[in-house]
Amino acid sequence: MTNYLSSVIVIFALIGCSTFNTGQPDGIKVFPRDTNPKTRVFIEREFLQIIAVTESPEWRPTVTLEHIGRGWVGVTYGPSDIRIERSLVELAMTDEAALWALRRTIAHEIGHAMSGHRFTTTARQQMNELEADAKGIEYFKRLGWPCKLWVDNFARVLKRGYDIDAEHDTKARYDQAQQLCSTA
Ligand SMILES: [Zn+2]
Repeated sequence: MTNYLSSVIVIFALIGCSTFNTGQPDGIKVFPRDTNPKTRVFIEREFLQIIAVTESPEWRPTVTLEHIGRGWVGVTYGPSDIRIERSLVELAMTDEAALWALRRTIAHEIGHAMSGHRFTTTARQQMNELEADAKGIEYFKRLGWPCKLWVDNFARVLKRGYDIDAEHDTKARYDQAQQLCSTA
């Protein structure tokens, strides 16, 4: 009888798990809904391969492809609301440099989400940017991807003279990337 009961409990537990899993599909919600299926599959794959090496591999964000403006390519508004610049995604499907820029962007935005950041326009954001970069760089390392791409990117931005805006301190980000990428 006890054995029977424990089997039933195990079965219920398994059913419980599978119901839970069905409620949490493996896929990522991509908006807008009329996004081209090829683009949808592409962006989903790019997100999932990075999420797999994070502290929460089961986590699934909502990803919206849109024009963000201000020269930004990504922004995280809430714990699972990530926006990615649509033109970068389209370019990344055919251009390798753009693909790596997209991967850095995704890793950085996931870094914000994993750190529990919400978008703010205060000085706090500069701290958040450094924290998100540190996580993004760590994900690149776990994937065996070139860490140097982060350093090179910030070096390029500095060279162009885009040193700082209210939310981004490029020099600090460059210094941090250089430091994190110099350690294996
Ligand atoms: Zn950021």
